[in-house]
Amino acid sequence: MLIGAVTGLFFPLMFLLASALLIYQVIQINRFDNWIRSGGKSKYPDAKGIWEDIYYQHYRLKKAEKKRKKKLGKMIDQFRKSTEALPDAAVVLGVNDEIEWANKIANDVLGLKPADKGQRIINLIRFPDFIRYLNDGDFKEAINLPSPVNKNIILAVRIVPYGAGLRLLLAQDVTQLKKMELMRKDFVANVSHELRTPLTVLKGYLETLQDMDGMSSLLTNAFQQMQMQTERMQHLVDDLLLLTHLETKPKKAEVVDVAALLRQICQQGSAFKTSNRRIELTLDTDALLQGNEHELRSAFTNLIENALKYSPDDSVVKVRWYKAKNDTILLVEDQGEGIAAINIPRVTERFYRCDVKRDKNVSGTGLGLAIVKHVLMRHDAHLQIDSILHKGSRFSCCFSAGRVC
Ligand code: ADP
Repeated sequence: MLIGAVTGLFFPLMFLLASALLIYQVIQINRFDNWIRSGGKSKYPDAKGIWEDIYYQHYRLKKAEKKRKKKLGKMIDQFRKSTEALPDAAVVLGVNDEIEWANKIANDVLGLKPADKGQRIINLIRFPDFIRYLNDGDFKEAINLPSPVNKNIILAVRIVPYGAGLRLLLAQDVTQLKKMELMRKDFVANVSHELRTPLTVLKGYLETLQDMDGMSSLLTNAFQQMQMQTERMQHLVDDLLLLTHLETKPKKAEVVDVAALLRQICQQGSAFKTSNRRIELTLDTDALLQGNEHELRSAFTNLIENALKYSPDDSVVKVRWYKAKNDTILLVEDQGEGIAAINIPRVTERFYRCDVKRDKNVSGTGLGLAIVKHVLMRHDAHLQIDSILHKGSRFSCCFSAGRVC
């Protein structure tokens, strides 16, 4: 400006200066562009002023990003290695159930190859049970399937939904477990069956001996005890055989008139001869059930027997067959000793009997409620237990609409 003022060339000089500055900035922008295009990873070129700062900031960001990418890559690598090391098959499914990724075991037991990536899983695993399971969307429990590669291998297949519509398929080899379960069932069935005959013989002789005259009171008492224990063992064997039958035999469906069945159980049931008076039967519906009458009779009898057993002789036991909002329910309600909250989840376990001090000795096998639970499972129903200690219990067998006709 000073030179311009002195020489009188102010405007031309200003124009020259501005052009020089513009050319300099264009050159810098060009250099920066070239550096970015080359990846911006190498050390940045020498620059002055604001350009040095721009280069430095960009270089710093690139370096941080590179570090983050490396860390992420390492994590993915570790995840891949760990899933490869999993003893179970794992398959990542996309929103349309197409295979996105599978580990090596999935190749071995499900027969999925790397080339199957992108294919829908139902085109490769074609078991109807599996397709139904996948479409139903209820993944609380696993389903058992034979392996598509070797039908002697039994797989427990489970779907775990995650993210937005993605699903993880896990398949575990449970062949040994199933074999052992089968052995256990066979063993219990065989032992129970073999015990039946000697018990019947024993019971017969005991009855004959008790009928004999001139027996001392000591012997009479002893024979009575022996007969009671034999009967208890017979009950146990019968219950074990029924449980094995429930676990192994295929379901048989017939139409069961529950109201008539309940009338029969409550009025004619020989087990309740002395307690007939205490049962109050209410039949609010005449709904029929699709199921097995013999099994339902066992379950309902067990519940009513328990209600009578675990409540005072002069209290009322209510039995009600009614329609609720979604289910049709058989309710057995007593005003007896009740069950402590801690015991409620356990009473349906085999041989579980609550440790309660009672005035009278109540005999039982601890298998009654296990039978009830199994029978209900076979009828797509569930057992709900509500109980207050020393006040009473409510056992509700809830049958879904699909079973009611
Ligand atoms: P048990 O042959 O001993 O009756 P169950 O499997 O039928 O075997 O019942 C398991 C346990 O649950 C019983 O031992 C008893 O303690 C408890 N229980 C069952 N029903 C009732 C009930 N209505 N009231 C109180 N306790 C009950």
